[in-house]
Amino acid sequence: QKEIWAQLKDEPTVSKEGEHVELVANIGTPEDVEGVINNGGEGVGLYRTEFLYMGKSDFPTEEEQFDAYKAVLEQMEDKPVVVRTLDIGGDKELSYLDLPDEMNPFLGFRAIRLCLERDDIFRTQLRALLRASTYGNLKIMFPMIATLNEFREAKSILLEEKDKLKEEGHDVSDDIEVGIMVEIPSTAVIARQFAKEVDFFSIGTNDLIQYTMAADRMNEQVSYLYQPYHPAILNLVNNVIEAAHAEGKWAGMCGEMAGDSIAIPILLGLGLDEFSMSATSILPARTQIKDLSKEELASYKDEILSMSTAEEVEAFVREKTDQ
Ligand code: PEP
Ligand code: MG
Repeated sequence: QKEIWAQLKDEPTVSKEGEHVELVANIGTPEDVEGVINNGGEGVGLYRTEFLYMGKSDFPTEEEQFDAYKAVLEQMEDKPVVVRTLDIGGDKELSYLDLPDEMNPFLGFRAIRLCLERDDIFRTQLRALLRASTYGNLKIMFPMIATLNEFREAKSILLEEKDKLKEEGHDVSDDIEVGIMVEIPSTAVIARQFAKEVDFFSIGTNDLIQYTMAADRMNEQVSYLYQPYHPAILNLVNNVIEAAHAEGKWAGMCGEMAGDSIAIPILLGLGLDEFSMSATSILPARTQIKDLSKEELASYKDEILSMSTAEEVEAFVREKTDQ
């Protein structure tokens, strides 16, 4: 097994009939990049920037952030690096940021909601990202987008900072794709409208499942409802992929589901373009995909999407893929 993995390390990820999909990694710090490269990652699909802000006594400066982003981009060379802007709040708190006590923190003041309100924090991060953009293949992604207006506002702040930097004489790339995480059902439902304005989608299933099933992702007592293969989730995922493709955009996934061996055949059949997972899952996933026919899996799409339960979906996939 380890030998097959080693052989595939520097190979692209292709299905049985030779269709390419991208296998990329989730990272939290520049130190994680080594693992991505050693495991044959084709890029970074989710750089969670929260770690830069955590375990400190104050916000990271523009310079500190610039150094971190530049380090990741340089090490990844021309491979894509999707950086997610700050996703704080909810379960992730900062000692130096006084957040209100909330009844429902996961439904509260977090991520893009906080960044649009505290745009001083947001602008510092965007400036650091824009300045780092000339060192590699940067894509910027906004978390927890629930409405098109949030996306429009975030993007216009980004463009304002870009103009300012250029006026100040900085070099900024003109090829930065700007996309969103799809982790709130409202956005998955009207993905078609979003697809006209974003450059890409990355489906955050960790939260999308929690919000769709109304089941706290940390609560053991309701974990039975946390069902990645639930047809409601699969229909939302399919809606996002179809919407992206209708507008010539790409759709990825950066939740845990993207590295799951039952989910992978389903997602391949639905036409997902990019799978972002922990670095150590990349070679096992590439090995699995090499033996899967995308065309065959695509032919099961309507049948899977009309199933009634997660159990039914799982049993079907196991049977078709000998798992
Ligand atoms: C997600 O919600 O699926 C995701 C990738 O983001 P996080 O796990 O950081 O909330
Ligand atoms: Mg999330």
